[in-house]
Amino acid sequence: MNSNIYNSPVFEMACRQFDRAADILEMDTRLRQRVKMPKRCLAVSCPIELDNGEVVVYEGFRVQHHLSMGPTKGGLRFHPKVDLGEVAALAMWMSWKCALAGLPYGGAKGGIAVDPFALSLGELERLSRRYMQEMIPFVGPNVDVMAPDVGTTPQVMAWMMDTYSSYVGSNASAVVTGKPVGLGGSEGRKEATGYGVAYFAKSYLDDLGIAPEEATAVVQGFGNVGSEAAKALNRFGVKVIAISDVSGGYHNPHGIDIGDAIKYVSKNRTLEGWNGGDQIPNDELLEIKCDILAPCALERVINETNASKLNCRIIAEGANGPTTNQADAILAENPDVLIVPDILCNSGGVIVSYFEWVQDLQSTFWTRKEVLNRLCKLLDRSKAELEAQRSKLGCSRREAALSLGIHRVAEAKRIRGLFP
Ligand code: NAD
Repeated sequence: MNSNIYNSPVFEMACRQFDRAADILEMDTRLRQRVKMPKRCLAVSCPIELDNGEVVVYEGFRVQHHLSMGPTKGGLRFHPKVDLGEVAALAMWMSWKCALAGLPYGGAKGGIAVDPFALSLGELERLSRRYMQEMIPFVGPNVDVMAPDVGTTPQVMAWMMDTYSSYVGSNASAVVTGKPVGLGGSEGRKEATGYGVAYFAKSYLDDLGIAPEEATAVVQGFGNVGSEAAKALNRFGVKVIAISDVSGGYHNPHGIDIGDAIKYVSKNRTLEGWNGGDQIPNDELLEIKCDILAPCALERVINETNASKLNCRIIAEGANGPTTNQADAILAENPDVLIVPDILCNSGGVIVSYFEWVQDLQSTFWTRKEVLNRLCKLLDRSKAELEAQRSKLGCSRREAALSLGIHRVAEAKRIRGLFP
């Protein structure tokens, strides 16, 4: 199949990762394209009326990567640069991530090309509801389950759930995850992704024999994942010395006051104007000397121009796809840098989303402690499986993670067979 509908640098990057892992697995050529290419996609026009009476049409997408192991699962991104290729890459990574964590899902992702900060709350609600309205034939608790990603929030998920429930005529809370807790959301979901990132960073610090109290961290991106990762790192005893968001970087070698930064962002939307650290450009932030570098913003921020300049011991990939294939090759030559790959490192989010879905389907709810205990068990299992695979194959952690996830999806497809 030669398709260019997903044409984008991010999709090419995901495909190169897949090809490398498939080579390592010596995957049968009869399976390769079946496992690699997204199963289906939908592109929709979402017209909404702005507060000033103008009508604007936004482009929305949803990609479902594979349907062989259960419903599909994946976030919804509101960002001006969203395109079909990026969404397809993110859906592909979700497939390998779910399989690595042992969740009964295929991967999916959705997005709208929009700057959500440029919309009023009313406009954002109309756009969210319109997108879900267009998606109704394509999603459902047993078909495809959305969750928050860049630019979307528990409130957006609540509007989605309400729109879908109005259509089916009954409460369908399991159609999305990452909802507010009072509406069928799970305790622990808000912090799950960032907590998982910090949990893995600490676990690998332990492996390296570095005490958390003696370690420093730099966190790029201060949204859901970055702020929660910074908070949890602090709680584990690590000193966070720099943070950043779309407004720039903030450096304080004595330690950032994470609580103050979170308060500031909840009031002002971004860190712009915050005075808790010296301002530095975002690209310089990545090169600060530290033990843990946690990229928690967007794709391809660690690339061939900065990979050799990084000054950290651990890269904890909170974001999806933050490290390009070229940067991976450069970093492979540097034995001092340990990469915790995205599909392991940020898997806490989808794991607790799965818990939320299970709780909604059963109408029974767990405490935060129960959720976090169950989460840590799965994170430990995934890490142990990845490390065993790495030793067995003698490959990088990214290759070990991808090959485990991809192998499980390929096996499901092989066993189910090819319908004539
Ligand atoms: P978010 O919208 O809550 O936060 C994104 C943050 O990145 C914001 O602080 C934004 O200002 C910042 N940012 C944007 N451009 C930047 C730039 N050029 N430099 C520095 N910072 C920049 O999004 P999120 O939910 O925290 O997601 C962040 C990343 O984590 C994404 O890659 C997402 O796919 C991934 N992820 C999210 C979840 C989840 O549960 N939300 C789960 C797994 C992976």
